[in-house]
Amino acid sequence: MSHLPPIAHTQLPDEPAVSCANCAACCCQLEVILLGDTGVPQRFIGTDAWGGEVMRRLDDGWCAALDRDSMRCSIYAQRPLICREFEMGSAECLDERRGMAGIYR
Ligand code: SF4
Ligand code: SF4
Repeated sequence: MSHLPPIAHTQLPDEPAVSCANCAACCCQLEVILLGDTGVPQRFIGTDAWGGEVMRRLDDGWCAALDRDSMRCSIYAQRPLICREFEMGSAECLDERRGMAGIYR
């Protein structure tokens, strides 16, 4: 019987926890329909093909209200209902993060 030293156990790195803090605001490229009186500043509001109010998106695809330096919402306290209800870690959130996976490489 041999007395070889135990094989070192290699720890695989943990998957980074899903957090808005380590996300490139993936969900802020989705269309956000505005419902009712939202308090969103007019300069961030656009119109969809049916005349409804939506968050305006710029040529890069992200919402006009997204601060491009911090990649955080610049109107967080006044953000639309749809944004408030978009849950971090939900299936939709994970889908958006997967869709932009190239950003994390
Ligand atoms: S909710 Fe999800 S997709 Fe949106 S910024 Fe946070 S982690 Fe990213
Ligand atoms: S309003 Fe804020 S949270 Fe909503 S899509 Fe725009 S930047 Fe993101």
